[in-house]
Amino acid sequence: MSKYLESTPNEEGYFGKFGGSFIPPMLEQPFADIRKAYKELKNDPKFIEELKYVRKHYQGRPTPISFAKNLTEHCGGAKIYLKREDLNHTGAHKLNHCMAEVILAKHLGKTKVIAETGAGQHGVALATAAAYFGLECEIHMGEVDIAKEHPNVVRMKILGAKIIPATHGLKTLKEAVDSAFESYVPQADTAIYCIGSIVGPHPFPMMVRDFQSIIGFESKEQFFEHEDNLPDNVVACVGGGSNAMGIFAGFIDDKEVNLYGVEPMGKGDTIGEHSATLTYGEEGVMHGFNSIMLKDENGEPAPVYSIGSGIDYPSVGPEQAHLKETGRTKVGLCNDEEAVDAFYKLSQLEGIIPALESAHAVGYAMKLAKTLSKDKTILVNLSGRGDKDIDFVVENHPVPNAKF
Ligand SMILES: *Cc1c(COP(=O)(O)O)cnc(C)c1O
Repeated sequence: MSKYLESTPNEEGYFGKFGGSFIPPMLEQPFADIRKAYKELKNDPKFIEELKYVRKHYQGRPTPISFAKNLTEHCGGAKIYLKREDLNHTGAHKLNHCMAEVILAKHLGKTKVIAETGAGQHGVALATAAAYFGLECEIHMGEVDIAKEHPNVVRMKILGAKIIPATHGLKTLKEAVDSAFESYVPQADTAIYCIGSIVGPHPFPMMVRDFQSIIGFESKEQFFEHEDNLPDNVVACVGGGSNAMGIFAGFIDDKEVNLYGVEPMGKGDTIGEHSATLTYGEEGVMHGFNSIMLKDENGEPAPVYSIGSGIDYPSVGPEQAHLKETGRTKVGLCNDEEAVDAFYKLSQLEGIIPALESAHAVGYAMKLAKTLSKDKTILVNLSGRGDKDIDFVVENHPVPNAKF
């Protein structure tokens, strides 16, 4: 087991100075219950077995690592490999923590799960887990995202979830979190808030990281099969930071492996045009935890934007903030245009349509590969598949080299 993972965060949920738990008094008890339940479950052989069973026989794990031969040749530098989280049931890494969170909810005797969703991936994954384990599911989603991510909205409805639109502010991810928290407070006796990333009050950043770390543990073994070595670089997109932390977990103690979290630069570097929190943010508390956040001139959460609806969040998981500050991880940047280019390149060169979020990681890896020699390697976490994005992308960015 990793020394780092065992010792971080501390008992109070701090990763260095980031993290903690800033919640209203009426949530103190429910969160204390969640912390206690997770402590018990974490090392409980029955829980571990149940999760293993579900992952193997329902979810489709282990997911493979694919060598992106044509994309590598196209870039002309380091070898690019893809960890295929797009092949999880429901199409993204989110089910890794949703199945576990719902088992925890059942353990606590809850009958309902509540969550926010950005692109709809977390909502679909949680609705799936709720259906499988027989719990009610309530999903909060910004009105703008509801319009943009229509297929996922339909999927959630079919899966039996209740969808509540967030109608204030920018009507995207941050507002969905606000709305979900508000709804959770009076229902905390019977419901649990299943956070969709390594964000929120302690213990969620730690718990979701632990559930996602399966990506990194599998990757380490699988990469040895390909290269008989560790990857030189690991690249993942960062919204809240869960898919990134999941894959980083496998390599965090291997100091020779460079870890890159890729942030969305959107349309430009002015406030409101991007969502590059680690790059432009400052310390602050939002949604119950202390981290780096993007602030407006009044110190309030700034408006954010990215073509990837799952990564436009004005804060970031406290562990990502901590690892950046200690220098263990580096930040890469990828804008909308580069992400769309990567979206089409991966589709046309490899036959894999990536989620727009994941396309940011691919876009940065393509830039990085070009700067490195051919004996170097890059492992990209392909966090999800792009079926949800196809209509939006072709409407706004015509298919290059279209043959019909
Ligand atoms: C939700 C999502 C993300 C962003 O969330 P993280 O917690 O930063 O991983 C990235 N990619 C996909 C496909 C997603 O669904």
